[in-house]
Amino acid sequence: MPAAAKEIALTFDDLPCNEFALPAECVLRINKKILRCLGREHIRTVGFVNENAIHHRSETNGRKKILKSWIKSGHELGNHTASHSKLSQVGYENFCQDILRGEVTTNGILKKYHRRPMQFFRYPFLDIGPEPDRSAVKSFLRAHGYTIARITIDSLDWSYNAKYQRALKVGDKKLANSIRSAFLVHLRTQFHTMANRPQNEILLLHVCTLTSLCVDDIVGLLRKEKYSFCSLGRALESWK
Ligand SMILES: [Zn+2]
Repeated sequence: MPAAAKEIALTFDDLPCNEFALPAECVLRINKKILRCLGREHIRTVGFVNENAIHHRSETNGRKKILKSWIKSGHELGNHTASHSKLSQVGYENFCQDILRGEVTTNGILKKYHRRPMQFFRYPFLDIGPEPDRSAVKSFLRAHGYTIARITIDSLDWSYNAKYQRALKVGDKKLANSIRSAFLVHLRTQFHTMANRPQNEILLLHVCTLTSLCVDDIVGLLRKEKYSFCSLGRALESWK
């Protein structure tokens, strides 16, 4: 019998955009690019929201529309705290408050679309904190109906994106292009290395400029390695 196809779930952090200070039209363009590719490829993902970033400047309505476009495109939304806080720094009480603040607007929008409240949670900075906060937050999340969305492949796109932006800022297009190429080489190596693991993979991406420019290539690399795409819930099951 042939081996079952290797599956992967794509996840996007820092909705509406990892680049906090970008003007609204850029944020919209980045999201559109990502959603267009996912739609064309029939891939359903989870986008993890930072609610403070929705209420940025006077752009709340535009940024809410972005969340709505993710929902209307068939994706799920997850909680990534309101302010992207680090459990190790802020401690149990503040972190739990940040989780609750992170669900007000998003769950309100989900309700309007007759969708269930957010069920996945992802730790900002992937920081699960020290004990005893670590266990206490896990219990808190369980009690509030959340499943922790672990990752298995870190794209490091936020880091490549920061370098890419710095290169563009000084007008070095050649360097920017080489950073973009290095990002894709890093991903190709990761995808190839993980392709023989028995479990499904969960890829961490961010809503940012570089990822929006490379999302077609990323999907292409995965298809080349014979991955098929699955839901986050299904990918998490294989790690139980
Ligand atoms: Zn994040």
